[in-house]
This record gives sequence, C-alpha cells and structure tokens, in this order.
Amino acid sequence: MGSGHSARFSLVAMLAVLLSAGGIAYMASVSYPDELGIVDARRRQHQEKAEEIGERVQAAIVEEVRSVSEVGPSDGAHFIIDAQGKVLVPSIEPLRGREETILEGLLPLRGFQARQRNLERARALEARACPGKTCTSESPKLRQAATLYEGIEKFSDTGAEALLGLARLHRMAGQNDLAASRYRELIGRFGERVSDAGLPYALLAEIGLSEVGKTAGPTLKLLRSILGAQYNAPNALLEVAAQEAFRTLARFPESGDQEEALRRDMQGLQETAALAMRLTSRGAELAADATFAAKAVVAPWQQESMLVYQRGADDRIYGLVLTEAQIREHATVEARGVGLHSSLHVSVENLQRPEAVEKVDRNTRRAQVSLGPLWPHLALVLWQEGQGSDGMGDIAEARRRHRAITGGLIAVLVLGLLATIRGAARERELARLKSDFVSTVSHELKTPLTSIRMFAEMLQQGVAGDDRARESHYQGIIVKESERLGLLIANLLDYSQIERGSRTYKQEKQRVGDIAREAAQTFARFREGEGQELTQTIDENAAERFVQADRNVLVQCVLNLLSNAAKYGEDGPIELRVQRDADAGVVALSVRDHGPGISSSEQEKIFREFYRAPAAVKSAIEGTGLGLALVKRHVEAQGGEVRVHSVLGEGATFTIELPEVG
Ligand code: ADP
Repeated sequence: MGSGHSARFSLVAMLAVLLSAGGIAYMASVSYPDELGIVDARRRQHQEKAEEIGERVQAAIVEEVRSVSEVGPSDGAHFIIDAQGKVLVPSIEPLRGREETILEGLLPLRGFQARQRNLERARALEARACPGKTCTSESPKLRQAATLYEGIEKFSDTGAEALLGLARLHRMAGQNDLAASRYRELIGRFGERVSDAGLPYALLAEIGLSEVGKTAGPTLKLLRSILGAQYNAPNALLEVAAQEAFRTLARFPESGDQEEALRRDMQGLQETAALAMRLTSRGAELAADATFAAKAVVAPWQQESMLVYQRGADDRIYGLVLTEAQIREHATVEARGVGLHSSLHVSVENLQRPEAVEKVDRNTRRAQVSLGPLWPHLALVLWQEGQGSDGMGDIAEARRRHRAITGGLIAVLVLGLLATIRGAARERELARLKSDFVSTVSHELKTPLTSIRMFAEMLQQGVAGDDRARESHYQGIIVKESERLGLLIANLLDYSQIERGSRTYKQEKQRVGDIAREAAQTFARFREGEGQELTQTIDENAAERFVQADRNVLVQCVLNLLSNAAKYGEDGPIELRVQRDADAGVVALSVRDHGPGISSSEQEKIFREFYRAPAAVKSAIEGTGLGLALVKRHVEAQGGEVRVHSVLGEGATFTIELPEVG
C-alpha cells in the first residue's frame, strides 16, 4: 500500500470514527431519551388506566354482590344460601308459586254429602254420555249430567268441580263459547282454590280456556301465568302444561314473537333450576368458606364462569354467577368510565386457558394487568385499534429506527477504530522498517565501497607487481563491486523517484529475448563465473516477440530477480526462462531457484517496501527489502504483472508477465 493511499485511508477511518461517535452521542443525548421519555410516560399512563379499570371492575362486581344482600336478587344469576348451606335462591322449582295458596272454605256445608253423591253420579253419566259417537247438547245422558252439575254449581263446596264438569260437557257438545264462559266463572269464583288432587282451579280453568280459545290469547296468558310462577302446582305438571300450551300455540301464527319470548323465559327458568341444583351440592362448602369480604372461585361446573360470594350481616351467603363474557362487558363499561382514549380497547384474557380466548395481537397490546386479587387468573389487556392513532405506533416505529441507526453507527465506530488501530500499527511498522532500511543501506553501501577502495589502494601501491593476471583480477573485483553499487544506487534512486511520483519511463518496443540475454550477461559479469549455474531457456515462439517497455528498467527488474535467486537460492541452479502464452496474449520472463522457497503467508508481504522475511534477516543475507517492491512497481507501471509461485523447500519462481505487442 502506498503511503498516499494509506494516509487517505486513515483519514477516512478517522472521519468515520468521529462522525459515528458524534451520531451516537446525538442519539444518546438528545433524541433517544426524548422519545424514551414519551414512550415510558405513555406506557405508565396505559398501565395506570388498566389498573384503574381492573379495580373498578372488581369494585362494581363486589358492589353487585353486596346489593343482593340488601335489595334481593334481581335475576337468575344471583344466589342466596343460608348459614347451613341450604340454597334459598334460586329455586329448584322455579315454576311453582312462591306464596302458599290459602285453602279456604273447605268446611263442609249442610247437605254436603248429598251434593257429593250428585257430583259422582254426574261424573258417571258424563263418562258414559257419548261412547263412540259424536255428542250433541241433546244427548240424554249428557243432559242428565248437566242437570245434576247445575244443581250443585251454586254451592261453594262442590261449585268448582261442578263448573269444571259443565265446561267439559259443553266441550263434548262442541259448545266452546259456553265452555269458555264456565272456565271464566270458575276463575272468578274459585280461582284461589286448590282441588283435591292438589291442582289450583285457576290453572285448570286457564288450561281449559287455552284449549277452547279461538285465538292465541288465552294460551299465551296461561303460559305467562305458569312462567310467572303463579300456581302452586307440582313442577312436572306445570311443565307438561307449558309444553302442551307451546304445542297449541303452533296453531296460531300470530303468536310467533311472543311465543319465542316465552320460550326463552322458559329456558331461563330451567337454567335457574339447573343452577339451583348445582349450588345445592356446594351450598355447605360455600357457606363454610364465605367471609364478609367478597371471594371468588371458578364455577366447578363451567370453566368460564365464576362464583362471587360474600357473607351478609344476616349470616346468609349472597352471591352471583358471572361468565367471563360478563366480566369483559363490565370491563368495557368501566373503560368508558375512566375516559380511555377512543382508539384503546379492553379485553379480558384467561391466563390459565390462553387457547380459549381470542388473543390480542402482540403489536397492538399496550398494557396488561391482573384483573384484581379476586381473579388472579384473569388479565385485563389494553389494546389499540389501528397503528399509531395515539402516537404510540409512531414512537415504537421511531424507536426501532433509532435502535437500527445507533446499531449501524456503533458498527461504523468499531470498524473505524479497528482501521485506525491497524493504520497506526502499520505506520509504526513502516517507521521501524525505514530505520532498519537506513542502517542496512549504509551497510550495503559501505561493503562494496570498502572492497573497491581496498583493491584500488593495492593497485596503487603496486601490490600486484608485474603479475598482470593478479592486476586484472583486482580490477575485475573493482568493476564487479562498482556494478553492485550501481544496481543498489539505481534501486534507491528509483524508489525515491517513485515515492515522489517523478519516475518516468521511456517505453519502446523491445524484443523479450534481448532483454533476457542482456540481464543474463550483466548478471554473469557481476559474478565473474562464480556462484550457481545459470541456465537460460528462450522458447522458440517467444524469442521474437515484442513488448512495450523501458529497456533499462525491465533489465534491472530481471536482474533483481536473478540477484535474489542467487542470494536465497542456495547452491541449486538458477533458471531464466522466456515463454509465450498466446491465449492470454502475454510474454513471461521467469526466474526459478532451488532454495528454501517462500511460505504462502509471506508471498504477499515480500512485495512491500522494506519488507524482509525473518529467515532472510536471520541468515544475515544482505538486502534492503526494496528489490521486489521496485520490480512490482516498475512492471505494473508498464502494464504488466509480477507473480510468485513457491512451495516451501522446493524453491521459488518469480514471473514477470507483459502484454505482447505486434
Ligand atoms: P532483499 O533486499 O531483502 O532481497 P527483496 O525485496 O528483493 O529484498 O526481497 C524481499 C524478501 O523476499 C527478501 O528479504 C527475502 O526474504 C524474500 N525473497 C526474495 N526472493 C527470494 C527467493 N528467491 N527465495 C526466497 N526468499 C526470497
């Protein structure tokens, strides 16, 4: 990496650090806490509202239980149990009248027995009046029976039965109007009485009326009286009568709505009876458990219902049955009471049966609180309809965005810091390499200079005498050392020119084979036939190929590679080879040695300025660490590439590739 490049890089890294740190500081100090504050305040507000609603729901229900003890039950869901556990309300027989019918006028009057006999005779005649054929009012037995009934109809002891008998006779003769008037008279005179069979005459008369009526009116009236528990008759009978009446009503299409309403009442009463039955088996337990403070349990017969109960001042237990749906309704009502934002809604979730409730979507949930100590398994959930209508959605969105931005900034900061640290380490390394370089270069300069001076002095002092061979040997050493010095100085100059950016190249068309030959000759001259053997192979198809290059520079590059091969290649031969790759359109100059090779981790580093592999430094092989860096710069400047291929222990091959020109 060039120093200009690395300076730009560290500047960018530093800017990244500064900007991201500034951004994080801004997010942290200004923007984020602001919104956090709003979000938290809003959340607290929601939580408080939810708690308030929960408390109000509980208070409302407890109040309702208390009002049962004060004003009495208002509908079927309330119950009252006495201190011994007996269920007082609701009634197991809700169809039975609450008041005992007063049985009056049963003291036998004078002539009672005679009238009783007539009554029996009339009934016997009535039974045989029209066997198997249609009756008319003229049928003799029917007439006789009617006369007998009429005779005893005025008396209060037999009157009711006589009227019933007369009504029956009229119906047999098809005189429904007359029958109806008898029934009405029966209601008017004996409505309060109960027959020997324990049946209220009013009920019997109403049933009769409903049967002979031409409209739905009497039947509806009968049903209402049964459902209104006006008769103190056995439940089973009342139910049969009611079912019968419902069947009769089917004849009158106009009764539809009313019939439906009565049917619902009937069903309600039956549910009340069912509740009473269920409570009966729990009564003692509830009575023992109740306190003056309200308590609640899940209804043992139905998971989504609760019994809420409390001991009243009179020691009775007052309570009500609530379904979860009703509790939810209470919550909705109370939510209106606390002035909840119009976009907020409440829902009640059962924590023990999460599958049973429609779960509120996580994104719309705003708060969740326990519905109160009475119902620890029920939670009140506040949720919002439509994203962001009270700003919470926007804020949540902004919060997510802020988190993402801050996360991104932190990542940039970390990367920037890493890059800065790396840059600083690299700078330090460069400084160290440069200082090493100065001492190596001084040493490198000094060595050839010393031998040049030494041999020049020897020549001057005539040490060689007349020995021409010796003299020429000394001169050769001086030339060799000067060439070495020249290559070193050329490298140094090149480096400083490249660093300053003032290096220029004189590019001309060059025959690759010539370059290889020149480099090999110069190299041989340096060594005066010493050192490893150098073999030169110039492929036939490559010898006459041309490249565009600065001849001196390219020769110097190959010389650098050859000089490295000699320095590091131990005793093995050095091979210089010229090849052509027609497909890629390149010519390659490669130098191969048989030295220790270069590990793959080192292969990239050796092209850096001043870098010397630790092995090279250790083995005291002279060098500046500039050779390969310069080869790379030079070759790349001429549009080529330098590559190294090496396997440890098997030597190294450096290749310069240049594009071929025509
Ligand atoms: P130097 O002046 O140290 O030779 P270079 O830039 O020419 O500088 O080489 C850099 C480093 O690469 C050398 O110090 C040496 O460790 C390694 N190197 C270069 N050529 C070879 C080679 N042929 N075999 C093994 N190592 C080599």
